Amino acid sequence: MTDTPVTLAAADGQAARLPQKSDAPLALRGLTVSYGEKPAVFSVDATFPAAQMTAIIGPNGAGKSTLLKAALGVIPRLSGDVTSFGEPVDAARARIAYVPQRASVDWDFPTTVIDVVMMGLYRQVGLLGRFTGRLKSRALSCLDRVGMGGFADRQIGQLSGGQQQRVFLARALAQDADLYLLDEPFAGVDAATERAIIDVLKSLKAEGKSVVCVHHDLATVRDYFDHVFMINVRKIAEGPVETTFTSEALNATYGGRLAATHIDQLRLAEGA
Ligand code: ADP
Ligand code: MG
Repeated sequence: MTDTPVTLAAADGQAARLPQKSDAPLALRGLTVSYGEKPAVFSVDATFPAAQMTAIIGPNGAGKSTLLKAALGVIPRLSGDVTSFGEPVDAARARIAYVPQRASVDWDFPTTVIDVVMMGLYRQVGLLGRFTGRLKSRALSCLDRVGMGGFADRQIGQLSGGQQQRVFLARALAQDADLYLLDEPFAGVDAATERAIIDVLKSLKAEGKSVVCVHHDLATVRDYFDHVFMINVRKIAEGPVETTFTSEALNATYGGRLAATHIDQLRLAEGA
């Protein structure tokens, strides 16, 4: 037995399986994305299951953000198919809410919290354009749900990182999507925010919604997630956390570059 990525990918049966139509909230077939000569994401197959919480795990620069953005069509794909709920992803776009990595957002943009959340409702504006009051009360209830009810009229740039992250989650909630894609929602937030966000995500799952998070904290994977997708440009492994999130798969994902902090987190994750 070797610990090469190829072997691990084959071990869960994915390599042997022929491409087929999937009704999953999100399914990728042969996704390749490149910014230049070298692909950032190479020939990735993935199936993100319904009504579960999935973590996307991998080192910095592994292509996690690129994978989400290319799946959504925010950046172009070099090749590959992306389906959502059995349809081409473009047709299912209204059922998907996306929360980008906080560091990638320009927080100096002068706008209020309530306006940020109401932007999440733009798809309904055509339909409900005359009912701005109703949209506003919906946005306010989403802010309440993330514990930010009192901040509606504040400037987004004046909030703490954790507060900004909660507002972006409220915006996603306002979309009333069936699939929520979040890029590192817990990065750089305070403990209370982390608790608030995980509680909301777990309540979405209880409602039958599907949640996919790029996740950087190996210590909380077992606690927070049902399913895991491990990537380092190529897919390393995917499957239920219990059977897939192993030290062998982590070593293959992080290569020889598993830092001391990762190893500590790994020991925690394995309950050692
Ligand atoms: P991750 O989210 O896993 O940290 P990214 O998807 O952001 O990784 O990046 C994957 C690779 O693609 C990295 O090598 C990164 O430097 C590169 N990359 C990301 N965005 C761009 C871009 N806009 N232009 C050129 N290269 C990029
Ligand atoms: Mg990223």
